[in-house]
Amino acid sequence: MTQRYDFDLFTIGAGSGGVAASRRAGSYGARVAICEARRVGGTCVLRGCVPKKLLVYASHVRDEIEDARGFGWTIGEAHLDWGKLIEAKNKELDRLNGIYVRMLRDSGVEIVEGRARLVDEHTVDVGGKRITANHILIATGSYPVRPDIPGADLGICSDQALDLPSLPKRALIVGGGYIAVEFAGILSAAGVEVTLLVRGDNILRGFDADVRSTLSEEMRKRGVNILCETLMRSVERENDCMSVRLAGGEILETDLILFATGRVPCTTGLGLEETGVKLNERGAIVVDASSRTSVPSIFAVGDVTDRINLTPVAIAEGRAVAESLFNNNPMQADHENVPSAVFSNPPVGSVGLSEGEARRKYGKIVVYRARFRPMKHTLSGREERTMMKLVVERSSGRVLGAHMVGPDAPEIIQGVAIAIKCGATKRQFDATIGIHPTAAEEFVTMRDPVPEPEADPLDQE
Ligand code: NDP
Repeated sequence: MTQRYDFDLFTIGAGSGGVAASRRAGSYGARVAICEARRVGGTCVLRGCVPKKLLVYASHVRDEIEDARGFGWTIGEAHLDWGKLIEAKNKELDRLNGIYVRMLRDSGVEIVEGRARLVDEHTVDVGGKRITANHILIATGSYPVRPDIPGADLGICSDQALDLPSLPKRALIVGGGYIAVEFAGILSAAGVEVTLLVRGDNILRGFDADVRSTLSEEMRKRGVNILCETLMRSVERENDCMSVRLAGGEILETDLILFATGRVPCTTGLGLEETGVKLNERGAIVVDASSRTSVPSIFAVGDVTDRINLTPVAIAEGRAVAESLFNNNPMQADHENVPSAVFSNPPVGSVGLSEGEARRKYGKIVVYRARFRPMKHTLSGREERTMMKLVVERSSGRVLGAHMVGPDAPEIIQGVAIAIKCGATKRQFDATIGIHPTAAEEFVTMRDPVPEPEADPLDQE
């Protein structure tokens, strides 16, 4: 490793991808620095997955209290102290931030505080100081965007939603993606009247049609008002509340507007164009399969590249860069069959192809589907249905996709994802003995295929 530069690797952005790459590089003896303008940890740890999941746990407590009566429990009046919850969540984030800082230091990675800007292919500027490196890794992530409509600044994004000082009576959530449905679950369980404004025909575009319909039905049963094919035109403040004008001219009143309308890559002010780093039309950094940009010494991983915008994918991409550069072990992150979850209420777990994608790609497929009332709810009395589904290639019998909406779906799908990654067939699923009594056993006991649909199934995703 050359001493011509101050560092072997200079990473911009201490989120999941940047930290993973830097630590792995440091463990191989590379001289590494990581630059962060905010707190070490990034979106997942500080403004995304982790704080969100802590709030999701809080929302499940409500279900447990409501279900308790069916199991013989009498519970007194329950009350959520939102302020206490936010305080506890923030304390945990401080702890995690400390762990991340310590882990970086233990791997010999120098933390540089400030905003970095590329000067040339081996040089960055941080607060007027020039730092050189043999390789530069950009892992600056993404940030939430709002629609370009009058009054959009009256709403908040997920960053602020995770830190609401108090709960509103009513909330309007704009969007139908991951963040919208997750916050709908959190807020409605906390007692907020939630309306979801979705511009498409249903929530979770891109997910399997049965996942979309099952989740929207279950959310509605829980009192979430979902308005599809509805666009917002403008927002105005009116005394204590906000008045929202919809495209059809109707007016909705609400106390809080949360924009969950997507995220865009953080690429401005980084000096990318000047250094020759190519961006695509969405403003994301263009990389090859090894995460190398159009400038050979500069790499990029995670949301800033807008491939699959999930923390574990950014980590895999970052580690692959470090392995390739510093361990003589050329590696590329594998973007096939990446499982994902939506921590809605009830949650979703998904891996592989949806039914629509499988029909488009393979033509002839067989679909297996189970819908049932979870055993727990025979006593709790809750009217909730679980949906599980396998999408199978007809000729080879290979399982192409597995989808679930119901309690523990993310935990269950993680294991199924291993089987799908190994190319398991439906026969191999069937030959696996179920664990009884569980919901998960349905994945190995589905016998009868769903009859071929008469309407064009491709229209529903
Ligand atoms: P998504 O891209 O998932 O969803 C954005 C939603 O907003 C879509 O329903 C989209 O509609 C809608 N939308 C976009 N622009 C407008 C507009 N101008 N007016 C009205 N609606 C609009 O983004 P999220 O913000 O939910 O999440 C960002 C990313 O973060 C996700 O893609 C995911 O990668 C990641 N994430 C992952 C989580 C997990 O793994 N559990 C949790 C949270 C986030 P349409 O579908 O029509 O485009």
